[in-house]
Amino acid sequence: MFNKLVIASGNAGKLREIQQLLAPLKIEVLPQSAFNIAEADEPHCTFVENALAKARHASLHSGLPALADDSGICVDALEGKPGVHSAYFGGEPRSDDKNNKTLLNALVKETGRAAHYYCALVFVHSHDDPQPIIAEGIWAGEILTEPRGTGGFGYDPLFMDLNLGKTGAELDLDVKNQISHRGQALRQLIKKLKNLQG
Ligand code: IMP
Repeated sequence: MFNKLVIASGNAGKLREIQQLLAPLKIEVLPQSAFNIAEADEPHCTFVENALAKARHASLHSGLPALADDSGICVDALEGKPGVHSAYFGGEPRSDDKNNKTLLNALVKETGRAAHYYCALVFVHSHDDPQPIIAEGIWAGEILTEPRGTGGFGYDPLFMDLNLGKTGAELDLDVKNQISHRGQALRQLIKKLKNLQG
């Protein structure tokens, strides 16, 4: 079993969630910034391919096992957009505020507001690992017409969980982690890792 892991992300919101979810495993979890690793290119049209590219990149430059998340929000009325382009839907330089405003503008004339978050997680033991471990999660909800809440990150102030009647930004981190796309994927991934250890 490895005792150190690099997280292939520079997104502070993701890092916070992943570090909290991995805390019980007693593994040293390091962000790729600790190795001055730049963000990997994400040229692919699927989340899983982008997550694999990020994991390989972080493992190659750190020499450690790596875990990458590629995620985004997919809106039914926009035929799944922004999807893999979620991080820069509002253009460059990237900002959550611009992304949220762009999403609201894109939905002005739409009546249906169903959406889901999707997360692909990929773990590699090394950059050339022939058997990456892959897990995924989906969190369904709806896009509000104005933001609510101050927690979370990204599209959370606009993303409403219909069962809880709260946005992602109104949930405590541990509650979000219990139900979110990322929480689901990480629990699945940990199960697969444990099975591998026997
Ligand atoms: P990535 O770094 O290319 O995977 O971009 C993911 C983007 O999707 C983030 O920058 C957010 O805009 C959005 N996103 C993914 N997961 C979440 C979440 O849990 N809450 C809010 N936004 C998210």
